[in-house]
Amino acid sequence: MEKKRFERPIIKKLQTGMPNKFGMKTEYDPITEIDGVPVKELIAKYGSPLYVISEKTIRETCREANRAFSTRYPKVQFAWSYKTNYMNAVCNVFHSEGSWAEVVSGFEYDKAIANGVPASKILFNGPDKSEKDLEKAIKHGSYIHIDHFDELYTIIGLTAKMKERPKVAIRVNMDCGIYPMWSRFGFNYENGEAWEAINRIMLSKKIDLVGLHSHIGTYILAPYAYGTAATKLADLAAAIDKKYNHHIKYIDLGGGFASKNTLKGAYLPGSDTCPTFDQYADAISSALINSQINHEHLPVLILETGRALIDDAGFLLGTVLANKRLPEGKLATIIDIGVNLLFTSFWYDHKITPAQQFSHHTEDAIIYGPLCMNIDIIRENVQLPPMKKGDNIIISRIGAYNMTQWMQFITLRPNIVMVDTKGKAHVIRGNETAISINENEKVPEHLTKFEL
Ligand SMILES: *Cc1c(COP(=O)(O)O)cnc(C)c1O
Repeated sequence: MEKKRFERPIIKKLQTGMPNKFGMKTEYDPITEIDGVPVKELIAKYGSPLYVISEKTIRETCREANRAFSTRYPKVQFAWSYKTNYMNAVCNVFHSEGSWAEVVSGFEYDKAIANGVPASKILFNGPDKSEKDLEKAIKHGSYIHIDHFDELYTIIGLTAKMKERPKVAIRVNMDCGIYPMWSRFGFNYENGEAWEAINRIMLSKKIDLVGLHSHIGTYILAPYAYGTAATKLADLAAAIDKKYNHHIKYIDLGGGFASKNTLKGAYLPGSDTCPTFDQYADAISSALINSQINHEHLPVLILETGRALIDDAGFLLGTVLANKRLPEGKLATIIDIGVNLLFTSFWYDHKITPAQQFSHHTEDAIIYGPLCMNIDIIRENVQLPPMKKGDNIIISRIGAYNMTQWMQFITLRPNIVMVDTKGKAHVIRGNETAISINENEKVPEHLTKFEL
């Protein structure tokens, strides 16, 4: 028998909270490129921090979602949720994949029109539509998803002076077994409010009720909840058919599918708990095809899913500014990405990966952002290999909500780059400058001069 090779013993510090006495291997390998473009090159060229969007990932995710639904239901239409990420280039990737636009404000409505979306392919949601917004949407034939009775009465008022017939849906909120229930948007199903809204619309005779809409919440891990929602909307559609012999054109199940991000405090990583598009599609399509709706009049199924389609395509690249040893002994790493750029760090444990090779020694660290605020914490506790000042890191799955909910605070917002399907990088939003930030400020005459 061959003599075994000698291996030098190693001494390794035990980490508290680890599942075995050898500690845990770092969860990941370094990420050194995004779709073939070296991370270091991106940072050298476009600065740090830097948002990077992978066009390839958006298209792949979009196609996967489309496949899951269109193989199970004959008429499917996706509408891109602008508020999830309304960078024009991002919206246009979705539009080029066939998505309509789903907007929740006049600002977003105008953005969709400017991007070239036909008005007849815009769904207008949200509680805040001004009379002007409604007039515009009616004139151009967009779909208005009515949120409350006051909005309905405004629309009825507009029909008296406009020749175009408004095309509307009502937003319905309901008990789908998900709590707390989102009851603040739309009309309630259980207490009859939704049915009343429908009857008032039908009574007006000047409004076309074309759809029924719900958006039950966000990051919903239970596909069955969508089955319940679809059943309730289908029941309303069947009741409308029965009472008025009127066929609803579409049922819109909104968004809210979970992305693979890990919620803070979750026991398992999001990549293990996130349902697949197939599971959501199963729940929704079964509910619709098994409902009372006659198959000759099956409505189009509209989906407005946001975060599940874009989270994976977004990365935030940054740089280590410093390391500190806190008085209690813990390692603190300060990076140039703060909560102003990563709003979602308030509820996700984002995956942070070094962008260069590292040793497999790891240590519990707290990751601070650069803001002078105590709440500026990117990760409370993460196992990372030691990194030096100047090393780069990548935060993954940040495509949803960060580029729309970001805050301008003490620094300027950075570049956003999209890597196209051929591996070419394009700036899709330039970094802010002192000029762009100051351009809307005005100093009153008496404050323009002072002596110190
Ligand atoms: C925000 C929103 C969406 C998208 O939600 P996600 O949770 O990102 O999928 C869809 N529809 C409406 C009405 C919304 O407000």
